[in-house]
Amino acid sequence: MAATMRKYCKANAESVAATHRKYIESPRGRMARIAANSNRRAERFGVPGVLALTDIQEMYRKHYDMYPTLTCTYCYKTIVDDSDHHVDHIYPLSRGGRNVTDNLTVACVACNEAKHNQDPYDFRVWVLGQIRQGAW
Ligand SMILES: [Zn+2]
Repeated sequence: MAATMRKYCKANAESVAATHRKYIESPRGRMARIAANSNRRAERFGVPGVLALTDIQEMYRKHYDMYPTLTCTYCYKTIVDDSDHHVDHIYPLSRGGRNVTDNLTVACVACNEAKHNQDPYDFRVWVLGQIRQGAW
């Protein structure tokens, strides 16, 4: 079976690659990639939890229960372009945060990159201060 698949993929490399590209660029493929990347990072940090595509879907479902639109959890900015956000581990994996749905949230790229592996409460206080000063 695997040999047959390998033979097919080799014979149809271009169309297989195009199908794969189309999948990873789709919303479903993006969520599958988020789960796979999270699992790889969780394993590296030795923290518990394995995410599946359905867990990422559940995280978005919970997000839309709380917010009418895609919204950054930290600065409350509405995320206009779907691709302009990250799925963030609230408690960073590098600090022992678990790789589970309840530890995931939506963050704008600016917040996620600034937060890095900070404690979520410390980061929230900092970003709200930045907003008050008109610097965010
Ligand atoms: Zn933000």
